[in-house]
Order: sequence, then structure tokens, then C-alpha cells
Amino acid sequence: MSLFLNLAQLGEQLAATKKKLEHSALIGAYWQQLAPPELAPASRLLIGRIFPESDARTVNLSGAALQRVLQQVAGTPVEWSDSAVDFGDAVAQWLTARGWQPHGAPLELLDVYHAYEEIAAASGAGSRTRKDELLAALLQRASALEAKYITKQITGEMRVGVSEGMLLDALARNTHIPAATIRRANQLAGDVGVVVYTALVQGKAGLETVGLEVGHPLKPMLAQSADTVADALEMICPPLALEYKLDGARLQIHKRGETIKLFSRNLANITASLPEIADQVRAEIRARDAILEGEVIAMDPHGRVLPFQILMRRVGRERNVAAMQQEIPVKLFLFDCLYRDGATLLDQTNTTRWDALEEIAGEIARVPRRIISTAAEGDTFLRDARAAGHEGIMAKQLASPYTPGERGKAWLKLKPVTTLDLVIVASDWGYGRRHGWLSNQHLAARDETTGEFLEVGKTFKGLTDAEFKTLTPQLLELELRQVGATVYVQPQVVVQVAFNNVQRSPQYKSGVALRHARILAFRPDKAPNEIDTVQTLRAMLEREEGNP
Ligand code: AMP
Repeated sequence: MSLFLNLAQLGEQLAATKKKLEHSALIGAYWQQLAPPELAPASRLLIGRIFPESDARTVNLSGAALQRVLQQVAGTPVEWSDSAVDFGDAVAQWLTARGWQPHGAPLELLDVYHAYEEIAAASGAGSRTRKDELLAALLQRASALEAKYITKQITGEMRVGVSEGMLLDALARNTHIPAATIRRANQLAGDVGVVVYTALVQGKAGLETVGLEVGHPLKPMLAQSADTVADALEMICPPLALEYKLDGARLQIHKRGETIKLFSRNLANITASLPEIADQVRAEIRARDAILEGEVIAMDPHGRVLPFQILMRRVGRERNVAAMQQEIPVKLFLFDCLYRDGATLLDQTNTTRWDALEEIAGEIARVPRRIISTAAEGDTFLRDARAAGHEGIMAKQLASPYTPGERGKAWLKLKPVTTLDLVIVASDWGYGRRHGWLSNQHLAARDETTGEFLEVGKTFKGLTDAEFKTLTPQLLELELRQVGATVYVQPQVVVQVAFNNVQRSPQYKSGVALRHARILAFRPDKAPNEIDTVQTLRAMLEREEGNP
């Protein structure tokens, strides 16, 4: 049986090189040391995932819980070193500085994995204490390096430079199984762990038996962005289908006879939260077995679309379902058919799949759709979608197959770019070319409940040299204190910020962080108490994670 330390050491080796071939060789050598039952968990842990994507369990431990338990185990509060790049790194540096020594038997990989399973299983009254105890027992036995990786795994931030795609490439290199076979099996299985295990233990033949199974969710196909209908027409050869992009929650619907399962975008089983949708599917769908996709939105009794935040009070929430059904009515719109009575339709064209959907959908609504070949037709459709209160439109190549889990060009989303108005609460002195300027801006959103400004990201991107030069004295006038190279300022300078997406953050008190933030403009017309709220960002995060 393999020690957890081996995985931690591999993480360090992987992080130390950017060369793909070296990554692949290191991972291949590691797999060889493992016993078959260790292959799947070790492979998931390597990319910072504890459970398969198609498994709804989570350890559900916040950054605060980790800090609390670390303090309990080590006797003093965690101190952050300035040089720490993430939470895991900070924990390791802090334990090392304190001369930390683990107690008890060395941790095996499966000891750690089973502890994660027990932590995930703790629920109900007393679960917080139980989770803390389990984590404390684990950390007692961990060296500083192992604690670093436990922290990384719990927070889902491995940052060793290996993504799911790279792990699968390494698998192809080490087994000589074609990358396409591996990718397809992964799309259908929704679990890299199973794919690695099957490839290494059963080989190519085994992987080929991984197929679409009704009741077992597969990864949803994703969309790239396009700015205008004209751009979409350039990216996708016309004719193409345009569909309303509804601002709701994606549903993958599995029907096997009378048994209906509803899965969210992140493959969680959310059937219990939407019983009326399950009933409707059972009653309407004209096929014994089917896998369908659609978007569920909240609608008031007059047919007006309700905001996403309201819908989120229903999706995945299993308490008071009957009362919530009254309070927040939902409506399903279908847009794809992946399987129908024994026939897998993934490799069929979008047109064929839409036709299959039309045949079996019964009285269930389909998303409004139009086949277009000119930008003018598309612009009208986009205007209609917006006028009806929807987010934008999707453009879909009529000839394209359904490629699970892939963000290709066959589906494009057209929606307005989201920006946020945030306030600068601190700024770091620059170095190199930016020496003498306050260059890295700490951006904060407003906490609606407490009125506090909570950091959600940092950026030095988007400002011109001239802007840095005028901003620096302006910020110095607002200075509250300096800590190291960081000047904390009164929250007064409001900026409009673009970003790629929102992610969970254990470091920030707000719990959320913007990825690839860049400043687009100063907003002197906006007061700090008018800026966007932490609650808005959390709702965005939920949407991005396809939560529940
Ligand atoms: P985004 O979340 O911005 O990447 O946009 C993709 C999401 O839009 C999908 O995951 C669906 O939840 C949602 N969506 C809304 N309407 C459609 C549609 N007609 N076709 C596909 N996805 C849709």
C-alpha cells in the first residue's frame, strides 16, 4: 500500500517542472507504484478532486474550519507568511517554522481518502464537531508537506500544474491507448479515477466498454463565447440554429421507464428538489428510456422570468419542497436529446437530435429556436430574446455532434459581458517598470448584510501608465496604514472591473475570488455604497458551479 507522502512528493516534483513529458513520466512512474484500489482515488486527488464529478458528496469544510482545526492541533493560530502562494503553502510554511512533528503511524493514501469519505458522510446535528475531529485526527499524523496537500485537496486548489486534460494525456502516453478513446471514456464516465483505473487494469478493450448509461450522468457539452451574431456566423458555417439562452439551471434528465433522475450541470442528483419536473417528464416523454437536456427557470404565475437567485432557492434544496413549489414555480425548456430507446445520439447531428427531441417531448416546452443564415435574422432573434427577459442566445452548428465536457466552437453563447463595480481597498507598491507606483490593486465588494468591504481579487491589469501615475498620489491621500509593501486605503476609488469567472476562495473572508480581473474604467460617478455586493458574486459562483 502506498504512503500519502508519495503523492505529496509527486505534487512537489510536478510543480517544479512545466515540461509535459516530465509530468507524464512522473505520473506514469507513480501509477506503477500503486495497488489497483489506489489508482482511482490517487488520480483524482492529484488534480485536486476528492470524489468523482458524478458523485454529489463533498467534504464541505470551509477555510475557516481548516484554520480552526489547525489551530487546535498545533496549539497556535495559523500565521500567513508573505511568500505563501496559496493556503496549502501557508500551512506548510507555518508548520515547518513551528518545528511541527507528526504523531502516530505514517499516513497511507487510502487512510487519507477514507478520512475524506467519513468527513463527507458526517451530517446533521453535531456534524461540525465530528468533521473537526476527523480532520484533526488526520492532521495529527501529517507532516508539514502532507498537511500542505491535505489543505490543497480540501480547498480544491492543487496548483501543481496538472489539469484533468494533462492527466488524461499522461495516461495516453503511458498506456499507448489512443487519446481519443481515453477522452471519450472520460466524457461518458464523468470520473477520471475510473478512466485511469480501467485503462491501467483492463487496457483499451476495457475503456471501450465505458458507455452511456441511463441513470449515470455524463459531462455536459459547453459553449465558447461570441460577441455578435456576425462573429458567430464567421465561427460557425451557416445555416446554424439560434436558441434563447435562458438564465436558469441546466438539467440533464435521465428517464428509465418510470424512474426519473435529474442532474445539475455539475452532475449532482437534484431530483428531490424538483418533483414537479420529474412528474412532468414521466407523464410527457414519449419514450421508455431517454437522456434529455434542458434549462429550468423560475417563472411567476404571469409567465414572467424570475431572477436566477430566486431559482437557486429551489434547485438542489430538499427542505420544504412542497411549500417551495407554491412559492417559486419552475418551468422546464428542453434543448437536446442524447439517448432514446437504445439509440445513443451523441454522434448524430444537432438537427437529428433536435428532431428526436421534437418527436418525444410531448407537451414539454422546447427552447425557442430558429435556423438562420444571415446576421440580420440573428439580430432580430437576439433582440426578441432580450426583450422577453432572457440572458442572450446560443448559436449551435447544425452539423455538430454532442461532445460531452468539451468547450468547442460548435456551441457559442452570445450574452452581454458582465462587469462589476468594485472599490480599491489596498494597493501594493510595484517593482521593475512599475517601481514607485501603487500598482497591484486590491478590489473589494460590499457585504450587503454588514456593510463591510471585503476583498475579492487583485489586479494590476487594465490601467495605462498615465493612470497609474495619477492613481498613486490619489491612493496615498487615502492611506490608512502600510504593511510590508501594501498600502491600505479608505475605500473610495470605485472601478469597473471585467473578469473571466468567479471562484471559491478560502483565503478571502468574502469566500469568493475573481479570476483574471482587469480594470476597465474609473467610476467617479459611483459611491462606494453603490458598488456590487459580495452576495451578487456568491450568486455568480453558484451559477458557475451549476450549484446546488
Ligand atoms: P454559460 O453558463 O454562460 O457558460 O452558458 C452555458 C449555459 O447556458 C449552459 O450550461 C446552460 O445551463 C445554459 N443554457 C441556457 N439556454 C441554453 C440553450 N438553449 N442551449 C444550451 N445551453 C443553454
